[in-house]
Amino acid sequence: MILILKPDIETDSEEYLQLMEYLRNLPNITIRIHEEKGAQQVLTEVYLVGDTASLSMEEMAHLPGVERVVRVSEEYRVLGRHKDDNRPTSFEYNGIHFGQDNLNIFAGLCAVDTPEHVEEMMAALKREGLQCTRMGAYKPRTSPYTFQGHGKACLPYVFELAGKYDIRVVAMEVTHESHVEEIHEALERTGHPTGVMLQIGTRNTQNFELLKKVGRQQEFPVLLKRGFGITLEESLNAAEYLASEGNRRVVFGLRGMKTNMGDPHRNFVDFAHVPVVKRLTRMPVCVDPSHSVGSRDAAPDGLLDVFHVTAQGVIAGANMILVDFHPHPAKALVDGPQALLLDELPLFLEDVRIAREAYERRVAAGKRHQQRR
Ligand code: PEP
Ligand code: MN
Repeated sequence: MILILKPDIETDSEEYLQLMEYLRNLPNITIRIHEEKGAQQVLTEVYLVGDTASLSMEEMAHLPGVERVVRVSEEYRVLGRHKDDNRPTSFEYNGIHFGQDNLNIFAGLCAVDTPEHVEEMMAALKREGLQCTRMGAYKPRTSPYTFQGHGKACLPYVFELAGKYDIRVVAMEVTHESHVEEIHEALERTGHPTGVMLQIGTRNTQNFELLKKVGRQQEFPVLLKRGFGITLEESLNAAEYLASEGNRRVVFGLRGMKTNMGDPHRNFVDFAHVPVVKRLTRMPVCVDPSHSVGSRDAAPDGLLDVFHVTAQGVIAGANMILVDFHPHPAKALVDGPQALLLDELPLFLEDVRIAREAYERRVAAGKRHQQRR
């Protein structure tokens, strides 16, 4: 059960103290408090965990300081959508809005290789008015003998170049908690020219200790990729690990499932789950067409499979796209074969706009027909 308190309630106010006194005396109930600092107000939510079945919603709603009560199902307590639950489905980070209601594009390098390539990439993004990118510094690789990413050595120039080209958020995978600290330090040293969205990759979706560590920090939002060989429910529970530790600025990423049934794509594209994740949870949903498709194959209509698959995610309401580009894919150290070229960026963006407009028109048509019924 979640008690949503009156906005901006003070923790030393009489009603807050009375409420806490009452809740602490409830038998077999533990309480967890979460504060959500929005642009306009602070929302305090009290999570009651344990033997809540015997509590009356009516009674709890009349306790001092309580505005609303939500009874949550066992699953996805923090991030889930529950009955009569109108908690926010968005958050702001470094001036960018992440929600189930909008779309952000993170085009960039799968792996950082040279400062020149990073700069070419960022300059292309700026030309198109984009403010987010992806830049892998820590790469989880199948073989221990392949390039593992430049790690913390590349962070200063990645962040400085991001600042130079007005990039506000860089999505960057971390595979160990020490990487979070390294990113924090590099941002400090370079004077915070940009922001970072920590990415937890598909190989670490169920690395629970990593999830707990990343969930305990509130500095960076997190993009959690779906596990490639587990159920959707298991991956959503992994997201809940982040939130239950305190970080609920989580975006959920679909990136295809590992099975040869999806051949010739690298992974079986699972973007039909975009609306499903939006229904089950309040997280914005990201699609990664590059790691789903894994090639530059094109359909007879002339469009690359990566474009088709992106459009499928966007027309279904995706809120973020994570996509590999490279100025010289032949020189890329990771995933060159799936990278889009910089001169394909304008067409890619136009295609995304068409799909997004189609999505918005579909939603409007749905609402119109519902009103008539
Ligand atoms: C990536 O985005 O660079 C990546 C490795 O993705 P995934 O974890 O989905 O394989
Ligand atoms: Mn990759």
